[in-house]
Amino acid sequence: MAGNNIFVGGPNLTEYVQCPYDSAHRILPVRLAFHLNRCAKNFPCSKMVRCPFNTSHLYSVTNMQEHIIECPNRSNLERYKMPDMLPLVEPPRHEFIVDSAENWDDDPPVPTYNPKTYCEEKFIIRNPQGAPPAARREFRERERRRFTANNQF
Ligand SMILES: [Zn+2]
Ligand SMILES: [Zn+2]
Repeated sequence: MAGNNIFVGGPNLTEYVQCPYDSAHRILPVRLAFHLNRCAKNFPCSKMVRCPFNTSHLYSVTNMQEHIIECPNRSNLERYKMPDMLPLVEPPRHEFIVDSAENWDDDPPVPTYNPKTYCEEKFIIRNPQGAPPAARREFRERERRRFTANNQF
């Protein structure tokens, strides 16, 4: 397990912001200033651009490049992306109480399930686990005869 354990990622879309020029562009906030610079050349007609963090923020291209650095909605997003910068909440401590009345050395009150006994009572193919090879061969031979006899009607 590598990485930050405190980090809890949201949906991937929240990591990207929409380009104010073209809604099809998805940019990481850190690359936004660079992207705006480049994208402005593709959209020379658009005088005003919308802030990708808050669509109600409308700025000229030059002002937008400054705005995205100090946009209050951007700082919300950044804080969301870096939750380890928030004050850490101490997890509640649980008292570990050992019940001394219980004796773990006692045998369980329920009889142990014995698969061998169960199989002996049912007409199912048994697999003699752990038996020596000779006994296993003998067992298989006996089982074959048992099934053959049942099929000779
Ligand atoms: Zn763009
Ligand atoms: Zn903004």
